[in-house]
Amino acid sequence: MIAWTGRIAAAVRSAVKASARTVTVWRERRRPPIAVVIVDEEPGRPAPRTLHVLMRAGEPAVGWLVCPCGCGDVISLRLSGQRSPRWYLRRAAGPATLVPSVWRKAGCYSHFILRDGRVHWC
Ligand SMILES: [Zn+2]
Repeated sequence: MIAWTGRIAAAVRSAVKASARTVTVWRERRRPPIAVVIVDEEPGRPAPRTLHVLMRAGEPAVGWLVCPCGCGDVISLRLSGQRSPRWYLRRAAGPATLVPSVWRKAGCYSHFILRDGRVHWC
């Protein structure tokens, strides 16, 4: 009996988790793509759905992005150099593509792939 109710509870939990994920994916599709904007300095208040990119010697150097989960935190991304972590920006214009995925080690702990301006949650 206990094992049976435990199984039901686990099934309900996993169904709730799956539907929350579906809602998140659906919401993401309705939002504008995250676009690259070149900036001269670190933005004081980065705009949402925008990857602000600071160029140095004609190459992307640093990027700033408001976390797409809605927590409001600003994620700063190293886009050049040998130090880790470092991300590669596919194009310095238009919808943003970053490689590898962004995985926050603090705050909301969001983990996502940014491809063609779309957030794919991991
Ligand atoms: Zn977040």
